[in-house]
Amino acid sequence: MRLLLIEDDVSLGEGIYQALSRDGYTTDWIKDGSSALHSLLSETFDLAILDLGLPRMDGLEVLRRLRSSGSNLPVLILTARDATEDRIAGLDAGADDYLVKPFDLAELKARLRALMRRSAGRAQLRIEHAGISLDPVSHQVTYLGQLVSLTPKEYQLLYELLSPPGRVMTRERLTQLLYGWNDEAESNTLEVHIHHLRKKLSSDLIRTIRGVGYLVQEAR
Ligand code: CA
Repeated sequence: MRLLLIEDDVSLGEGIYQALSRDGYTTDWIKDGSSALHSLLSETFDLAILDLGLPRMDGLEVLRRLRSSGSNLPVLILTARDATEDRIAGLDAGADDYLVKPFDLAELKARLRALMRRSAGRAQLRIEHAGISLDPVSHQVTYLGQLVSLTPKEYQLLYELLSPPGRVMTRERLTQLLYGWNDEAESNTLEVHIHHLRKKLSSDLIRTIRGVGYLVQEAR
């Protein structure tokens, strides 16, 4: 799960960035609108958190240009207190949800989960597939009813492999989603995490599709 945080307020941005990173989200942080638009149009993200008052290009303009490019990326906007007009303009420009500053980080995280769920077309919170049960709120994973203890990156990788279940995930997409600009990804890091997941779950649960990526299917 890779998020782009677009916020020019350094202390607020730092707080959000730390909280999301601690929760295992790959988070990249940009502090101006024009660089944000460039990244949104050229890279893969699952969701953007967009402040409206930004230097170089305001958030509304970023959102309008993103939508006119045809992107349906989930976007949560951050607005100042009492700025009702901003909120309306933001929703009209294609925002999926908004939060009014100051807000609680726990609420931000709950809104993000709801947005991701909606964008994945899942009404249900829990993901069930091939004997795996994954709870995106508690990050608890069970396999055939047994609790499995995963590192944050392993959890994130499994989540991506199951979003949606039964589809081949390409190596490129997994690498983009798992590693932000600040992570030093060694060339074989993905394979190492896959290896650990196979050991913790079942060796033939995650199939390698040669030259393409990975697929989670019932273990034989
Ligand atoms: Ca701002």
